[in-house]
Amino acid sequence: MKIVYDPRHVFYSPKQEFDRYKMVENPETPSRLEKSINLLKLKYPKNFVNSADFPRSYLYLAHDPDYIMWLKSKSKETEDGAEYFPKVFGYDRIFDNGTPILNNSFEMAWISAKCALTGAKILLEDPEDFVYVGTRPPGHHAGLSMGGGYCYMNNVALAAKYLQSKTNGFIAILDLDFHHGNGTQEIFYNDNSVLYISIHGNPSSHFPYVSGYEWEIGEDEGKGYNINFPLEAGIGGNVYLRVLEKCILEIDDYDPDFLLVSFGSDTHELDRMGTFNLKGNDYAEIGRMINQLSVKKLIVQEGGYNAEGNADAIDNLFYGLSR
Ligand SMILES: [Zn+2]
Repeated sequence: MKIVYDPRHVFYSPKQEFDRYKMVENPETPSRLEKSINLLKLKYPKNFVNSADFPRSYLYLAHDPDYIMWLKSKSKETEDGAEYFPKVFGYDRIFDNGTPILNNSFEMAWISAKCALTGAKILLEDPEDFVYVGTRPPGHHAGLSMGGGYCYMNNVALAAKYLQSKTNGFIAILDLDFHHGNGTQEIFYNDNSVLYISIHGNPSSHFPYVSGYEWEIGEDEGKGYNINFPLEAGIGGNVYLRVLEKCILEIDDYDPDFLLVSFGSDTHELDRMGTFNLKGNDYAEIGRMINQLSVKKLIVQEGGYNAEGNADAIDNLFYGLSR
């Protein structure tokens, strides 16, 4: 087991987001990751590795070059300390009002993506059974040519494309963040070489609202390789784990060469960005169930906005993964 972590994430600190007609504090903070990383450092100090470097053109594996150029130039022209909120939907390439562009957004999102690529590289080159990537900003809401939901570059999609560029392998992406990974779904919607399967809060009442319904099953060659399980607010471990069992069976049937998990701890009972009520022992069970699949696993951190909830979730997930 290895843990990929780049301490430079602390230099990324968006201050505000626009929510329901007013500016509020942005919850995508360094502290949300630091508490769980500190805990992992105490328990597994020898398992940590820093991010490696990669050619920047690797971003085009999962993103439209125009979007990457836009993000780069918009970051560069934003003054240090300022936060630019996109104003024109579509043209501005960010689909919500929670994802400001800062002077270092491009650079920091790229470091986060490199952490995921590093995890993928370790999975290929070392005999590791699982690699955890503790990183932010998160990625699963970033699509081919648009960011949003605190995401700028799709870390897990980049890792999947990287693995495929080196092996032609089949990949399953299990998205366990509270929110539907609209970006990841979009990137692989026509692709039968990547199974995307997600459990999340019902999008009729939860972000990202536009996607995550059960009738979104993929298109063309990808038809049947996109599976959504939207669940209602207030559910706990009982319901969640029953649905996860279905996902595990789907993944087992697909028989992938690699399993990538978009892991969000905003499903925790302490996290009120989500409305599920998972407890510590539920995450241990999630880890145990994932571990039943005999395939190399890359677990990439997505959301999770309550530092205590995140640490409890990660601690128990690791316990379950070792069983
Ligand atoms: Zn989330």
